[in-house]
Amino acid sequence: MSYDVAIIGAGPAGASAALFTAKAGKKTVVIDNDQSITKRAWVENHYGVTEISGPDLVEIGKKQAAKFGAELVQSKAVNVKKTGDVFQVETENGTYEAKHVILATGVSVELAEKIGVSTKPGTEPRIKTVFEADSDGKTAVPGIWAAGTAAGVSVHTIITAGDGAKVAINVISELNGERYVDHDVIKG
Ligand SMILES: Cc1cc2nc3c(=O)[nH]c(=O)nc-3n(C[C@H](O)[C@H](O)[C@H](O)COP(=O)(O)OP(=O)(O)OC[C@H]3O[C@@H](n4cnc5c(N)ncnc54)[C@H](O)[C@@H]3O)c2cc1C
Repeated sequence: MSYDVAIIGAGPAGASAALFTAKAGKKTVVIDNDQSITKRAWVENHYGVTEISGPDLVEIGKKQAAKFGAELVQSKAVNVKKTGDVFQVETENGTYEAKHVILATGVSVELAEKIGVSTKPGTEPRIKTVFEADSDGKTAVPGIWAAGTAAGVSVHTIITAGDGAKVAINVISELNGERYVDHDVIKG
């Protein structure tokens, strides 16, 4: 099965990225092994949401992505290899082929060394190491991007979710060859 985008991690960063890529019509797979730190959170500082439990936020995020056609796979990604123009994302239960890969792995940068993405010390409280990526989310490996906590942004759901959306928009824009915007209007 071949995808436009494979996203590793379905916390706020990954699921938000998946919601954008899938809604843009990009074939999207999200691989997650259910280790989100957000599942321990009680959130009262997410704009537009008065209060919500972390587990509910994560579940709603995954459902939103699935609503637009993202395929969710519960498994651990163990490697990402490039063959020709595409990446093979190897998981414990199978391999998924994709043109672009977004690393939204939260506090885990376990994949870095194996897949050739460099890391750097984290700047945020309790975040030891993050993937090295530019302000667009691009790592030094063309086609591999990083978003959210794993990319070193401030560890708050509104920011990690926003960063996932930002990186997804950059990936969609690259796939389309022009800047992308997703604006719905009130149905009249
Ligand atoms: C106790 C606690 C309380 C918090 N309270 C708040 C709060 O009140 N307000 C607030 O804004 N923020 C809060 N946060 C922070 C918030 O949870 C994070 O900012 C944010 O949600 C992190 O999102 P993320 O998507 O980057 O990472 P995560 O939510 O951790 O998601 C990363 C996902 O990647 C998956 N993954 C990693 N490696 C792999 C792999 N190799 N294969 C497959 N899947 C993989 C994990 O299973 C996980 O689901 C709190 C955090 C904690 C721990």
